[in-house]
Amino acid sequence: MRVGIGYDSHPFAKGRKLILGGVDIPHPKGLAGHSDADAIAHALTDAILGAAALGDIGRMFPNDDPQWKDARSIDLLNKAFLKVVEAGFQFVNADVTVILEQPKLAPYIDAMEEKLAAALLAGSTHVSVKAKTNEGMGWIGRGEGIAVIAVATLAEPRGPRLSGGLSIS
Ligand SMILES: [Zn+2]
Repeated sequence: MRVGIGYDSHPFAKGRKLILGGVDIPHPKGLAGHSDADAIAHALTDAILGAAALGDIGRMFPNDDPQWKDARSIDLLNKAFLKVVEAGFQFVNADVTVILEQPKLAPYIDAMEEKLAAALLAGSTHVSVKAKTNEGMGWIGRGEGIAVIAVATLAEPRGPRLSGGLSIS
């Protein structure tokens, strides 16, 4: 079993759509970024890449590459996942915590879990998304932006792809 962690943050900006976990969320402000700034998809992408030791989202999709400008990050998550599969890993589960004051994400949680799981070719019971506020503290509390922490686990059905480590099985 392999575990990976991902973190992401983006500032809110006027004139942007708010897209989180692949879901369009009605809100006066969206998140600023080179892509669609879907911080949930970004953190989860880093978590699966981290679990597979395949680098990170910035290395796989450089933000100075015009190819990825305004890209749907849920599609980048799927592309990264296909690399993870190529490397011999199987997705097991992911758990995501989103920290933001507004808007309330409860009505969108199920849809986000479904979209994220679909990008990972998994059932939605394998992906958990939780939202909480920062109790009004700091930059998140002032509504300047959001932060996301994601953890993902992968299985190695074909065994470790790199030799040289200790075998304990
Ligand atoms: Zn990001």
